[in-house]
Amino acid sequence: MRLPRMSRILATLAAAAMAAIGAVAVGSAPASAAVRNVCYNTSQAGPFAGYANQAATIWNNATNNINMAQCGSNLMIYYTYGGGSYAVRNSLGNGYVVIDYYQAQQYSPLRIMTHEIGHILGLPDNYNGNCAILMSGGSAGTSCTNPYPSAGEAATVDSYFRTAVRSATTAQVFTGSWPAPVGALR
Ligand SMILES: [Zn+2]
Repeated sequence: MRLPRMSRILATLAAAAMAAIGAVAVGSAPASAAVRNVCYNTSQAGPFAGYANQAATIWNNATNNINMAQCGSNLMIYYTYGGGSYAVRNSLGNGYVVIDYYQAQQYSPLRIMTHEIGHILGLPDNYNGNCAILMSGGSAGTSCTNPYPSAGEAATVDSYFRTAVRSATTAQVFTGSWPAPVGALR
C-alpha cells in the first residue's frame, strides 16, 4: 500500500502547487496535464465583457497550455473612467485587469484587453512600437488594432504555464501601457 499512498500524497502536492499559481488542472489525462484553467470573471466588466470573451478566445487559440474560461474569479475584469488601463498580477494567472473607458475610445478596446490579460499570463511590456507585438501596447499608436499575440509572445506564455517560471509569478502592477496620443483631450 506504500505506492498508492505516495501517489495520493504526490497528487495532493501537485494540486497545492497548481493552486499556488492560481491554476486548476483540466481533467487528469496526461495529454492535458499541462493545461491550466485561467478563470476569468466579467461580472464587473460592463461594456467590456464581450471584449474579454474575445480576448480569451484569442489567447486560447494562440496557446497550448492555458484554457481561459468563465469558471471562477482568478482574473477579474473591471473598467473605469480615466486614469489609464492597467493590470495587477498577483501571481501567474491571478489578478485583475482594469480597462479605461476613455482610453478604449482612442485605442482598440480588444487590443487593450488582450494586452492587459497578457500581463496576467506573465508577459512584460515591450514598448518597441511594433504593431505585430501585442505587448508593445500604446507605443504602436492608436491606428494599431492588432489584438493577437505574436508567435513568440504566445510561446512565452506557454512556457510560463508549462514551467511556472518564478520570474513570471511575482506580483507586479503594470500601468502606463497606453499613453495618451499627442493632441488627445485626455
Ligand atoms: Zn502593458
